[in-house]
Amino acid sequence: MNTPKRYTITTALPYTNGPIHIGHLAGVYVPADIYARYLRLTGNDVVFIGGSDEHGVPITIKAKNEGVSPQDIVDKYHAIIKKSFEDFGITYDNYSRTTAPIHHETASEFFKTLNNKGKFIEETSEQLYDEEANQFLADRFVVGTCPKCGNEESYGDQCENCGTSHNATDLINPKSAITGNTPTLKETKHWFLPLNDYEDFLKEWILEGHKKDWKPNVYGQVKSWIDDGLRPRAVTRDLDWGIPVPVEGGEGKVLYVWFDAPIGYISSTKEWAAREGKDWEPYWKAKDTKLVHFIGKDNIVFHCIIFPAMLKAEGSYILPDNVPANEFLNLEGNKLSTSKNWAVWLPEYLEEFPGQQDVLRYALNANAPETKDNDFTWKDFQARNNNELVAIFGNFINRVVVLTNKYYNGIVPEPSNFNDVDQETLAAVRAYPDVIASSIERYRFREAGQELMNLARLGNKYLADAEPWKVIKEDEVRTKTIMYVALQIASALATLSEPFLPFTSEKLKKILCHSALDAETTWNEVKTKETLIPAGHNIGKAELLFSKIEDETIQKQLDKLEASKKANEAANKAIEPQKDTISFEDFTKLDIRVGTILEAEKMPKTKKLLKLKVDTGIDTRTIVSGIAESFSAEDVIGKRVTVLVNLAPRALRGVESQGMILMTETPEGKLVFVNPDDTAVGNGLQVS
Ligand SMILES: [Zn+2]
Repeated sequence: MNTPKRYTITTALPYTNGPIHIGHLAGVYVPADIYARYLRLTGNDVVFIGGSDEHGVPITIKAKNEGVSPQDIVDKYHAIIKKSFEDFGITYDNYSRTTAPIHHETASEFFKTLNNKGKFIEETSEQLYDEEANQFLADRFVVGTCPKCGNEESYGDQCENCGTSHNATDLINPKSAITGNTPTLKETKHWFLPLNDYEDFLKEWILEGHKKDWKPNVYGQVKSWIDDGLRPRAVTRDLDWGIPVPVEGGEGKVLYVWFDAPIGYISSTKEWAAREGKDWEPYWKAKDTKLVHFIGKDNIVFHCIIFPAMLKAEGSYILPDNVPANEFLNLEGNKLSTSKNWAVWLPEYLEEFPGQQDVLRYALNANAPETKDNDFTWKDFQARNNNELVAIFGNFINRVVVLTNKYYNGIVPEPSNFNDVDQETLAAVRAYPDVIASSIERYRFREAGQELMNLARLGNKYLADAEPWKVIKEDEVRTKTIMYVALQIASALATLSEPFLPFTSEKLKKILCHSALDAETTWNEVKTKETLIPAGHNIGKAELLFSKIEDETIQKQLDKLEASKKANEAANKAIEPQKDTISFEDFTKLDIRVGTILEAEKMPKTKKLLKLKVDTGIDTRTIVSGIAESFSAEDVIGKRVTVLVNLAPRALRGVESQGMILMTETPEGKLVFVNPDDTAVGNGLQVS
């Protein structure tokens, strides 16, 4: 594309069944925000669009489990997600939601247009049905074996292991996620988008047209899907949560969440335009608009195949110029998981690291999974902060500001002759806007962030080599030139760091009193302006931009993850298989009574055993019980218990035990008295 007139930047709509975590940030939101901020700084017309994806099956399942309405779930998480994006400095021009009326309207119209144009196939087909739950099983309501990779826990619409998108009926050995039953097949009518009709278009547009400029991971995935052959995809569902199918025969059905969600980009743009008094259409329909979708790799099929086919079918929209999808970010070597709580949650981070948004932005960008899956570790986070942000960027700025205040009362000194090093340094500074821009425009945000740090390194090295603190003793004139050059680098950093470290950039501009300058330097002016911060300008006092992160802080986060790991291991501990069937006669041989513990004492020289006096209703007897690691003697006196009274007596450490108190053990290894009302007692725990 020649120079675009305007940019429409979209980010994957986060699904409103949980907060945002670092995987989302590294994969989508941090790079998109860097891109949007950079484009604005370079004077472009940009609309940066986001919103919450609030339809679909997982939300209805979560609502059912929590005994609330789907609307309650999405209201809760939409608010949490929106606020955390704001607090993290993601500069959306509009952040909407797919339950908004404007979205329902836009998506309905879109569907009707395609329907009127005859772009759908209506087909009555057999779909998986859960007789007990009395409903059709689409998408996440069904789990089975992926026909492509054999993953036994593939969802009905997509396999999370291999990324393949399929129909629920393709699953081998499907099971209902609601009841666990094997579903039956039942007829229902649905609208299908015949993706196979778009194969030629997709081949020409992507496989030929974007061979060079799309990322190899994105291109490769798209190519493999097209090579496998595309098939019609149902765009409606039998469900009661979502956007009702707006045509005859659509009663009781809604649009497939993956049909309506990307249209959310359009409705969010409309919402923005209405508020700003602008026309939304050029941002989606003008040929000189550059449309870029930021997504994670699990969304490639929807943004590179299904949504473009929808836009093409509609006919009046432009197609994305690029879809720079990222791979996945892992955490401490393990896959991020919401259900396993294996994540760093953004709201928690913002609370635990107040004012340190830029540290996370920097660490995530430095490790962004741009070309392959990558790993976030807390140690690396600490190192990025302490060794780069504090030791290089922060140290350079602090020296410049402290020395300027010390030598010149905060007034930028007048330079005299620039020597070769000064001139080379100033020339290098002027080259940085293009160097960084070139990386950003090729969606290499990691590289761009490192170039920014290289500019800080340049400043650090310049000062360390020039040693103004020594020179001042013999050559005041030379010192002024050195400090002037260093101040130009600091000022360039204030401007060029904005996309990457927006909070720091703002702080630095304040320290350097940029607002008192005639005009704020733009990105491009760093290349051309003779002086970024002129002699005679008064800067403010030093203020630390970053602070060292101590080992204790990191250990706390590692401990939190360790606790998650333990809880997961406990939850995964297998439930014992059922024992052999016994006859009712066998059962009646057991004489189980309710009793009360009257006395208890720890058995000497043992760790586990308590000696109990128990009132069984028949008599008062002695029972030795191996519960001392979970209960003290005082804990159990007076406790009502279940006792197997006709167990043959046996001697334990010289004391005859006349029966057994029935206990169970929680997955964490804690003993619990058998009492199913106790919240610690889960189903399937063996009474023994
Ligand atoms: Zn698979």
